[in-house]
Amino acid sequence: MIPAAFEYYRPADMKGVIALLQEHGDDARVMAGGHSLIPMMKLRMADIPHLIDLQDVSELEGISVDGDTVRIGAMVTQHELINSAALAEAAPILKEASTQIADPQVRYMGTVGGNVANGDPANDMPGLMQCLDAQFTLLGPDGERTVAARDFYEAAFMTDREDDEVLISVSFKIPKGAHAYEKQKRKIGDYATAAAAVQITAEGGKVTSASIAMTNLSDTPILSEAAGEALVGSDCSGAALKAAVAAMQEDIDPTEDNRGPVEFKRHVAGIVLSRAIARAWSRT
Ligand code: FAD
Repeated sequence: MIPAAFEYYRPADMKGVIALLQEHGDDARVMAGGHSLIPMMKLRMADIPHLIDLQDVSELEGISVDGDTVRIGAMVTQHELINSAALAEAAPILKEASTQIADPQVRYMGTVGGNVANGDPANDMPGLMQCLDAQFTLLGPDGERTVAARDFYEAAFMTDREDDEVLISVSFKIPKGAHAYEKQKRKIGDYATAAAAVQITAEGGKVTSASIAMTNLSDTPILSEAAGEALVGSDCSGAALKAAVAAMQEDIDPTEDNRGPVEFKRHVAGIVLSRAIARAWSRT
């Protein structure tokens, strides 16, 4: 399939991007790596008369670690996340998750901004950002505002972002403790059947805090606070592990699709979470 005809714009800065969004309203859409948007246009599931390419906007680039805060520009690619020495040191869960996204060709193009702004429940970064309690910075005609990743997702492909706003960066405090990102997929290059992001802190052989988020098990990413609480005070074995998985099962709401029936997805969710907790615990 080829997409419907569209006008193509390549502004050099955010001022130009916002001006185009204001001029064309609902008929305009920004494009980052294009690896979610272009397939939708080719399948005629998205008809976009005015396409605004963000590739030349240098304000959206770069990874920085300043004090205890990590900031990632919206146009940073998954390939850059994997190869950033600063991120490997500050937040290694990003590399562990990014290497499990698609394949190298997609990761050369797919961006952090596109992945989190898209609102696709199958994308890996939204749950990961909820696990890290990240903040999303949006720029619109009235200036900047910040939204917590945990408040951003409303339904599948529906987020708190207004049509004339662009996500410019993602930031979060350097996570403490140990991490794991575990994903089950049908084959290399596929989206998750289920995935789990886990960050754990521990002291004296016991968990002091746990942040747990699940992917592709509802129409939004799921932060399971109850699952995290079930681990606190434990050594992540036996009853505590079972309680965490049971609490997570209460929070997710998978639906049947070509990745399997609901019962299978719940089973896979339990397996990926158990593995992620075990791996994170082994790293504490
Ligand atoms: P685009 O496709 O350019 O944009 C996606 C949407 O976000 C569009 O609606 C666009 O308007 C909007 N948008 C983009 N940037 C911004 C911004 N800065 N502000 C506001 N809105 C913005 N992803 C996974 O997470 N896990 C996978 O396993 C996975 N597998 C894949 C397999 C294949 C074969 C392919 C083609 C893609 C796969 N992806 C997967 C998706 C890939 O990671 C995408 O590239 C990513 O989700 C979207 O990023 P993008 O930069 O390509 O965004």
